[in-house]
Amino acid sequence: MSRHRVVLLPGDGIGPEVVEAARRAVDASGPEIEWIPMEIGAVAFEKYGDPLPADALEQIRACGVALKGPTTTPIAKGYPSANVRLRKELMLFANVRPVKTVPGLETPYGNVDLVVVRENTEDLYAGFENEVAPGVVTSIKVITEVASRRIARFAFEYSLKWGRHRVTAVHKANIMKLADGLFLDCARQESRPYEGRIQFDDILVDALAMKLVTNPAQFDVLLLENLYGDIVSDLAAGLIGGLGLAPGANYGPDCAVFEAIHGSAPDIAGKGIANPIAMILSAAMMCHHLGDSESYMRIRKAVRTITRDHRDLLTPDLGGKGNTRSLTDVIVKEIERRRREPVHD
Ligand code: NAD
Repeated sequence: MSRHRVVLLPGDGIGPEVVEAARRAVDASGPEIEWIPMEIGAVAFEKYGDPLPADALEQIRACGVALKGPTTTPIAKGYPSANVRLRKELMLFANVRPVKTVPGLETPYGNVDLVVVRENTEDLYAGFENEVAPGVVTSIKVITEVASRRIARFAFEYSLKWGRHRVTAVHKANIMKLADGLFLDCARQESRPYEGRIQFDDILVDALAMKLVTNPAQFDVLLLENLYGDIVSDLAAGLIGGLGLAPGANYGPDCAVFEAIHGSAPDIAGKGIANPIAMILSAAMMCHHLGDSESYMRIRKAVRTITRDHRDLLTPDLGGKGNTRSLTDVIVKEIERRRREPVHD
C-alpha cells in the first residue's frame, strides 16, 4: 500500500479535539499516512501574526491534501478569514457538503440525502468592502462566467461519479438579474451535455429554504453561489441533527482540503464535549480521495453502527452522555473490528 503525506491542520477552538479524533479514525482504518502538522488560525496569528502562514500553504501545495479543523475569524473587526484565504490561495473552487440522515437519531425527517455544491472563490466573499461615506458601506458581489461554469461542470461531473440524478441551481435571479442571472445562465448552459443523464432545474433561494424545512427528501444535488451555499449547508445540517454530523471537502485542480461544516464552537471549546463525527466523516471523504474506498466505507459504516446502537455514548449535542474522547474510542474500536473481520452490511 502506498504511503500518503497529508497536512494536519488542527486549527483552533474545538479544532484540535475533533481533528485528533479524525486522525485516530483514519489511522485505525488502514491507509498509510505520514501526517505533517501545521499551525493555522488564532494559534498561528498569536505566534506569527498571520492566521495562514506561508509555510502551511507551501506544505499543502507540496502534499496536495490536508485535513483541517475549524479556525476562528474575529467578528466585524480584526484579520480576514483564514478559511476564505486558504480556499482562494489554493484555488479550492468547489466546496462539497453531503448531508445524509444518520441512523438512530430522532429528527423530523428520516430520509435526507442531499449534497450541497458551493462555489468557493467569489460572490460576496470576494472581500471587496468599502466605506463610501460615513455610515454608508458597500460590499461587492462578484460573479464571473469562468467560476460559474467551472462549479456547474463540477456539480454535473460529481453527480455522474456518485450516481446522483438531479442538479438544482439555487439563485435570486429575480432580484439580482445580472449576478445571479449569470450564475443561472452558466448552470443552464453547462447542463446541456448532461441531458438524459442528469436532470437540471432551478429554484429561488427563499423558496428553497421553505421547501427544505418541509420536505428535504425532494432535493438531490444543490448548486449554489458562495454565500447561499454557506447558509443552506448549515440549514441542511440542522435537518439531520446538527453541525456535529455534517462533513465537507474543498476541491481544486491541485489540492483538496477536508473539513467539517462547523466552526470553532468557542462556546464548548476545551470542554471535551465536541462531537467528532463531522470531522471523522470529513476524514472518510479524504480516504476516498486518496483512493482508499475501503477505509471510506469502513469509517462511515462504523459511525452509523455507533449512532444506531449506542445512543447513550453520543455527545451532548445529540442527547448522549458521552464526550469527544469516549465517542472517538468507541468509533475507533468499531473501525478496528470491521478491519479485522470485514462485515457485509
Ligand atoms: P460554529 O459552527 O462554531 O457553532 C455553532 C453552534 O454549533 C455552537 O453552538 C456550537 O457549540 C455548535 N457546534 C458546532 N460544531 C459542533 C460540534 N462538532 N459538536 C457539538 N456542537 C457543535 O459557528 P459559530 O459559533 O457561528 O462560529 C464560531 C467561529 O467559527 C467563528 O469565528 C466563525 O468565523 C468560525 N467558523 C469557521 C469555519 C471554518 O473554519 N471552516 C466555519 C464556520 C465558522
